[in-house]
Amino acid sequence: MTVLVAGAGGFIGGHLVRSLVEDGVAVRAVDIKPLGQWSQVCEQAESVEGDCSDPATGVRISRGIRTVYNLAADMGGMGFIESHKADCMLSVLINTNMLKAARANDVSRYFFSSSACVYAADRQRDQRVTALREDDAYPAMPEDGYGWEKLFSERMCRHFLEDYGLETRVARYHNVYGPIGTYDGGREKAPAAICRKIAHAVMTGPREIEIWGDGEQTRSFMYIDDCIRGTRAIATADFANPVNLGSAELVSINQMVSLVEEIAGVVVDRTYKLDAPQGVRGRNSDNELFQKIYGWEPSVGLREGLETTYGWIYDQMKAGFTRP
Ligand code: NAD
Repeated sequence: MTVLVAGAGGFIGGHLVRSLVEDGVAVRAVDIKPLGQWSQVCEQAESVEGDCSDPATGVRISRGIRTVYNLAADMGGMGFIESHKADCMLSVLINTNMLKAARANDVSRYFFSSSACVYAADRQRDQRVTALREDDAYPAMPEDGYGWEKLFSERMCRHFLEDYGLETRVARYHNVYGPIGTYDGGREKAPAAICRKIAHAVMTGPREIEIWGDGEQTRSFMYIDDCIRGTRAIATADFANPVNLGSAELVSINQMVSLVEEIAGVVVDRTYKLDAPQGVRGRNSDNELFQKIYGWEPSVGLREGLETTYGWIYDQMKAGFTRP
């Protein structure tokens, strides 16, 4: 029996496929993008181009599958999410379709990648945050567009479990970063964007970078290895309710810039674009529930993770694989 990874051409999907294959799991990897645009293509996996929101495709790709990991979504960093609300909400068609296909094909497990963007805006207005617990998602007032889609899809997973017995599992990812991810083109997230800007400053001389907002907004950032380990743990365990999967190491964007400066060995001039998209003021992951169920929590330190990420982005840019 094979495992299906939907959204396998993306950042997390690509790493997940590699991790499963390394453990000897047979994987069918699917993405809407042409193969040449996948972030990584794993030779030992069966790689298929396909639209997971299409009913016929959904049934075809989930035939003979034991576990579905649904990571497919039209998404990006704050710049993308705030200007593509309809596109983000249309990802609901992917999850709806893949749940129906999984049920039709008697799939035994279905994992859905939700997001910390489901959390109510009211709880995230201060940079000195109280970390978000799973029940803080209700009463609901998630991130417009992207967050509403994730919250709705979470509930759809729950009802497929309750009404049809499909064993669904849901992780609420808090910002994930690492090598082999998007770092330019408009969909990149803060860690990759900051690494790219500082690498560019190192390579070209002008030591000035633009920061979105005043830089005092806070977040936690989870390294990709922790994300993959947690994803696989959540997908295979008995616990069925949505659970946070994130780092609890809170930093401001300014602190993250300082870390990347140290790694790159430069000091840059910071200009602040106060009208740029910034999302909520502060957000952190409360990992008490995750700890209780799985006995560990994401632990790769930000400094360590950024070193690898910066090094990879720097090398890509040096090799000419980017726009400044
Ligand atoms: P990504 O954009 O790199 O990967 C998503 C992939 O889905 C892309 O390759 C895209 O082509 C594919 N896709 C889009 N529509 C599709 C369709 N109709 N059929 C098949 N494939 C389709 O994003 P990512 O960072 O790897 O995120 C993976 C999942 O995790 C997404 O659901 C995302 O919302 C969620 N998530 C990610 C983060 C993060 O920080 N990266 C945080 C919270 C939640």
